Amino acid sequence: MRKLPLHWKIVIGMTLGILFGALVSNFSWGKQFVSDWIAPFGTIFIRLLKLIAIPLIFTSLVKGISDLKDISRFRHIGVRTIILYISTTVIAIIIGLLLVNTLKPGAGISQETIDELTETYAGNTSIITNLQEIEQQDSGPLTFLIDIVPENIFTAFGNNSLMLQVIFFSIIFGISMLLIDPESARPVSRLINGLNEVVLKMVNLIMLMAPFAVFALLAQIIVSTDNVEILQKLLFYGATVVLGLILMLSFYLIVVYLFTGRNPHWFIKGIAPAQLLAFSTSSSAATLPVTMERVTEHLGVDNEVSSFVLPVGATINMDGTSLYQAVAAVFITQALHFPLDFSDQLTIILTALLASIGAAAVPGTGMIMLVIVLESIGFPADKLAIGLALIFAIDRPLDMCRTVINISGDAMVSVVVAKSLGKLHHSVQKEENPLHNQN
Ligand code: ASP
Repeated sequence: MRKLPLHWKIVIGMTLGILFGALVSNFSWGKQFVSDWIAPFGTIFIRLLKLIAIPLIFTSLVKGISDLKDISRFRHIGVRTIILYISTTVIAIIIGLLLVNTLKPGAGISQETIDELTETYAGNTSIITNLQEIEQQDSGPLTFLIDIVPENIFTAFGNNSLMLQVIFFSIIFGISMLLIDPESARPVSRLINGLNEVVLKMVNLIMLMAPFAVFALLAQIIVSTDNVEILQKLLFYGATVVLGLILMLSFYLIVVYLFTGRNPHWFIKGIAPAQLLAFSTSSSAATLPVTMERVTEHLGVDNEVSSFVLPVGATINMDGTSLYQAVAAVFITQALHFPLDFSDQLTIILTALLASIGAAAVPGTGMIMLVIVLESIGFPADKLAIGLALIFAIDRPLDMCRTVINISGDAMVSVVVAKSLGKLHHSVQKEENPLHNQN
């Protein structure tokens, strides 16, 4: 058992969690038991991952930049990353649109189902408050730029949803280290390198808990899924999203093969534990420490590249989310008989791109940002809550799947950027014992 690769241990944990959840759901005490005694371990694990995310971004980004020696290298990484992120997101949205327009999952939804879903979920307070929050944010066209710049480092470091501000501070910090006298920079550099190693070791230690934590997370998800009947009515829509996500993953594997000559197995094996965690936690931000560890240690992407590409990607590159938003938006218009023309579809491409950039890397935000996409095509405001209620029942499982694609897209881009800059090393696909020093 000790020798078993980590991803298998996680798969076993997930399977047992699902089985256990399904078993205890049959008893009246089951739900309460899981939320009192099992679920807290999942929450502790997610907390630990979030705890480590900000120090990890700071130390590895500063280390990555200050090791560059030459600032133009950083520009190369930045430009390639942004171009790839935007292009893959647009491809994801187009795949989503093609599928939903061809398969038309919304056309088969009966009025009876719409009424039933609306009645069950339209009053859901979280949708309504989130909608109101979005409406209250009156933002100008450059608000996103202002939001990237922190005014206080403690506020930025103290709030996991301000990850872009931490990235901004770390980039300026790293660049300034490159620009000062190397003699003065040396002690800072040694400190940051040491801290980075410590933080990476912490990730390894936290991952010891992963198989048990995913058991808890999955058991909790299963016992809190009610109304399996309603889920079945949305099966065709769910299958359309999942099919799109599978196509997107295949696209990544082809790109990785074309750019690096490495086979899909290499990529999947390297990234699998991060994918499984993305599935269990539905959060790219919580998965980030593990994505960084896997991409650097197991796929061989130089820290110089991964330290920038991955944190930025976790926040702004969400291919799975944007594909889902395209499918969900069109599905809702099909079900509620709101006709779309070609220019509406183009508008969806643009707004789903922006909405996925703006979506925070935590569970459920993809659905909330869908409001922006629907509003952009002139979908009537009074039907918005009905539209969201329609897809609410099945959102969590889809969130789990789209988060897998979100982090896989980030990993794929780091591999491609690293390869194009000669920074893809021969990876050491080893399962290490985190309790021992590898030196
Ligand atoms: N849960 C997704 C993520 O963290 C965002 C979303 O689509 O809701 O990547």
